[in-house]
Amino acid sequence: MSNGILMEMTIEQVRQFRPEVVVLGSGSVEPHGPVLPYGTDYWQCDAVVRRGVLLANQQNARALMYPTLPVGNNVNFKAFPFACRLRVQTLMQMLLDIFSALEADGIRKIVVYCGHGGNTDAIRATLRAHVDARPPGQGAFVCMASCPPELARPPLVEHPSDHGGESEVSRMLHLREDLVRKDRFGVFPFGKLSVEALSAGGVYFVRPWDRHVPASAGGDVRKATPEKGRRLIEGAAEHLADLLIQLSQAEWTDAFPYE
Ligand SMILES: [Zn+2]
Repeated sequence: MSNGILMEMTIEQVRQFRPEVVVLGSGSVEPHGPVLPYGTDYWQCDAVVRRGVLLANQQNARALMYPTLPVGNNVNFKAFPFACRLRVQTLMQMLLDIFSALEADGIRKIVVYCGHGGNTDAIRATLRAHVDARPPGQGAFVCMASCPPELARPPLVEHPSDHGGESEVSRMLHLREDLVRKDRFGVFPFGKLSVEALSAGGVYFVRPWDRHVPASAGGDVRKATPEKGRRLIEGAAEHLADLLIQLSQAEWTDAFPYE
């Protein structure tokens, strides 16, 4: 049986499968404090995409999971050791090459699943570069999806954090408990800005991560549980599956995704 996971399929299964939509996870490998492994974003991203594809295909979608990219954009992590990173332009070019290859394979609908906050801006810029390189109505439709942010807020997550906090520890307790250092659970501080107006809404800058989260993780992780992690992963996978089902069923026209 074909399940839509490219890494697990033969050429005959891929030919029979005739995918309608392809999902590509954009992960990252970088430090996540004393509790979590470097691979945290990769494991989470890969798990959500895999579960989302399986769930969608159980409901008659034809979604194909592309291999999750392990290395992303971490230019703001340079002060920490072995924060794996590609330049912004390299990440963009990799994605553009993959989009072109998928178009050559006849794919018109592509979802990039963003599993790392540092990749978001590069992916958005790539989507614009992709549209710019093709005449109107030509080329694949590409969108970016990620975990709905409201999932990782109270009441489910008691102490939200943007890196290595309760939600990420919970997800990893669910996915790879063997890699979580429970003996190092604690509260990891956030850096304080000297220019307070920079934290106001509507202002953007690239935060040097060693100043923002000096331990390479931030927040109180003591309330992390595998059950919270399961609900976060499954909630994100259901959200992605819904998108894949709708994209898969929608008829392709030159006006796609409009009527
Ligand atoms: Zn992370």
